[in-house]
Amino acid sequence: MIDLRSDTVTRPSPEMLEAMANAETGDDVYGEDPTVNRLEAIAAEITEKESALFVSSGTQGNLLALLSHCQRGDEYIAGQEAHTYRFEAGGGAVLGGIQPQPVPFNDRGELALEEIRQVIKPDDHHFANTRLLCLENTQSGKVLSMDYLKSAAELARSFNLDLHLDGARIFNAAVKLNLNIKEICQYFDTVSICFSKGLAAPVGSVLVGDGDIIGRARRWRKMVGGGMRQAGILAAACIYALEHNIDRLVEDHRRTETLANCLNALPLFALEEQPQTNMLFLKLPDEVLKRLGTWLLEHDVCIADSRWVLHRDISDADLYRIMELCTEFNDRVLA
Ligand SMILES: *Cc1c(COP(=O)(O)O)cnc(C)c1O
Repeated sequence: MIDLRSDTVTRPSPEMLEAMANAETGDDVYGEDPTVNRLEAIAAEITEKESALFVSSGTQGNLLALLSHCQRGDEYIAGQEAHTYRFEAGGGAVLGGIQPQPVPFNDRGELALEEIRQVIKPDDHHFANTRLLCLENTQSGKVLSMDYLKSAAELARSFNLDLHLDGARIFNAAVKLNLNIKEICQYFDTVSICFSKGLAAPVGSVLVGDGDIIGRARRWRKMVGGGMRQAGILAAACIYALEHNIDRLVEDHRRTETLANCLNALPLFALEEQPQTNMLFLKLPDEVLKRLGTWLLEHDVCIADSRWVLHRDISDADLYRIMELCTEFNDRVLA
């Protein structure tokens, strides 16, 4: 089966499994797992932050960030479609009494500075206390420009807001811009990073920041049941991913572009826009998309909706198969 639903569907490779099997372990709740400690040290180093915390998922990383930056009655600003606000079950509100203030993403995946400025509340007892700005990079596969990050950070600082980056796919952004992730991280107090997306590890994310905030996050992690014991077997997969699966993201980006060019040349197909990283978004009537999904599934290609995501488990041969099937579908429908 060729699975285009998400880059979370990758399976650990034999080499990654071997690294997991050979991992040195200890009890990480006691701080004694050498492999987790090594992963946290590497993560802090490559992001140029003081400290890092291994967490079970990107959702947990974002939740711990919200809880560590904000108090009950505080507010965070995030995109209307942001993962933190939209797809994490309202954890900040449920567990922290933290109010979200959503703002629409523009077509570059940014929160427009003017929109941010307008929702920051004055210091007045009528209002929640605006505390934190959350950005997302990549946002639906779009890479935020360094100029934008710099201006957004300046704006946030001028209002004494902290900054958190949901960097689930930060490596896709860094590879696309051909720079180091620390260049992106410099604008943020905390960054959460997933190893289980394009980096193809089975489990694991990390939250990075200064010692104080990661200390608070560690307490929250324990409270929400995220203290894991011989977690080194998982951390080993993440270290393997950092060492072997970053540079190859260009292949996912290249295949996504090739697929986009193929689809754009077919009269039936249209895309929302030219993809920047490993995701493309089809613009097809619902009924056509449904028929396409059925057709593809009959030929062992799985899609969820109009978002198609490329990843480590999609080869060039798979790519050609997808393009062949889409071409055939085009010809049949228009025949
Ligand atoms: C996947 C994702 C996360 C975290 O997801 P988990 O499944 O909890 O690891 C956070 N933000 C974005 C933008 C994501 O795509």
